Amino acid sequence: MSLTLDTSARRVEHAQMFIAGAWSAGASRATFPTVDPNTGETIAQVPRGDATDVDRAVAAARRVAVEWQFTDAIVRAGLLRALAAKVTEHADELARLEALDSGHYLAKAQELVGAIPLWLDYWASLADKVGGRQIEVPGNKLSFTILEPLGVTAHIVPWNYPLLILTRSVAPALALGNTCVVKPAEDTSLSALKFAELVAEAGFPGGVFNVVTGYGGEAGAALAAHPDVAGITFTGSTETGKQVAKLGADHVAQVNLELGGKSPTVVFPDADLDEAVEAAVQGFCSHTGQVCVAGTRLFVHRDVREPFLRKLSMRLDATRVGDGFAEGTQMGPLVSQRQYDRVREYIEIGKSEATLYYGGGRPEGVHAGGYFVEPTVFTDVVNTARIAQEEIFGPVASVIGWSDEDELVEKVNDSIYGLFAVLLGRDITRLLSTARRLQVGGVMINDWFGELPMTPHGGHKQSGTGREEGLEAVHGYTQVKHVAINLDPLRPATDWAGAPL
Ligand code: NAD
Repeated sequence: MSLTLDTSARRVEHAQMFIAGAWSAGASRATFPTVDPNTGETIAQVPRGDATDVDRAVAAARRVAVEWQFTDAIVRAGLLRALAAKVTEHADELARLEALDSGHYLAKAQELVGAIPLWLDYWASLADKVGGRQIEVPGNKLSFTILEPLGVTAHIVPWNYPLLILTRSVAPALALGNTCVVKPAEDTSLSALKFAELVAEAGFPGGVFNVVTGYGGEAGAALAAHPDVAGITFTGSTETGKQVAKLGADHVAQVNLELGGKSPTVVFPDADLDEAVEAAVQGFCSHTGQVCVAGTRLFVHRDVREPFLRKLSMRLDATRVGDGFAEGTQMGPLVSQRQYDRVREYIEIGKSEATLYYGGGRPEGVHAGGYFVEPTVFTDVVNTARIAQEEIFGPVASVIGWSDEDELVEKVNDSIYGLFAVLLGRDITRLLSTARRLQVGGVMINDWFGELPMTPHGGHKQSGTGREEGLEAVHGYTQVKHVAINLDPLRPATDWAGAPL
């Protein structure tokens, strides 16, 4: 039965897995609760999928893999466009589910859901345009490559942007002829289940798209380890990504890893400080700091430290933290009790390593059961401090001073991560030469991060491998077949030594 949302009661009924085009309570029929992070109260019971459910979902995806591969690309594109229309039609319900489950404030959830069709349209447009290439070889031969889908692909999704991250990997996978098994994060399964309902309504054949809910160590690990899974897109922490890569290696799956970060926001001495403060605040407070590219290392040039900090604290005073369904909220809760405990622990670590400059506590007037924290800023942070090196995944920024570019580049690059950087200033030569020296997968100059379907996203170092979005993502969902035709009669070899191999 399809999932139903009662917005006023903040309850969801009939959350079931979606396997082979049908709803399922799971082999064990066991469930686990998912909570509203604004209140800590249970909003739904979700099936606790296990290896048996993963087996069924992968078998369903495998059964239809060849048929889907050879479905005309124009038909696959049409189905993606029909899905985009369904998402638009049900945008309000999807946004409410996302806000309730993940803690995004409602206006942000609406914006995020409103953007989902962009990803579906982008990949629908590319379905019949990407392909192989002709290769000039010696002799009268025709040599070319064909891009083929991988087959069954697994999509293991984190809880911070559940529907966006699901869509950004499932859309290219489906467009390029793969079938999918999705494992949403245990804290945020609901929007994926509603999405599955819309996939069915859009007309996708049963088995092409499947969702198995459950815990990472059970359903997630079983999916990554499944020998019939040819490709894995994992988005999540670096620690779990390493485990998933090892599970995939056992059956030589192609693995795309979109992992954690500890990204720098760099304020140059000639930056417009009001703009710099805006970018910095969005950088570490957006979605309460639970963003892979969050700018939680604030490298502020020593010449502008004092005016920057004064403006920063005024801007934070004006940031409204509260219930995601309340009018005007700009920062909602953290996603779970576990994440709340983790962020609080890092704030205590910060107090022992640096100077607490702003926040550090619980905002006033919020629900006692909700997972709220204040935006928090530490100053006098040394680059080797734990709060400067470890991904906290909360609204906690470390201000680190710098005086020249060599010092800046050395400090920024002194990190296991290399996901993203924001540079704020006016001297474009200085900004671009710094951009070239940073070991990161993306740089934004004079703006905060904006995710788009057409620009490649991914990390260097332990922030990941492969790329999501843009034409670069094609490689993550295809494999190459080389075909060559000899156009001359095949002559008997007179000299075997002269034959190519
Ligand atoms: P996580 O690693 O705890 O979980 C991610 C997913 O993996 C979940 O679905 C989880 O159930 C599953 N999982 C857990 N253990 C598993 C196992 N042993 N085998 C298979 N699957 C398993 O990450 P999270 O806490 O949900 O998300 C936050 C992390 O995600 C942060 O580190 C963040 O930086 C990262 N992230 C990265 C990007 C990116 O594009 N680079 C985007 C969003 C989030």
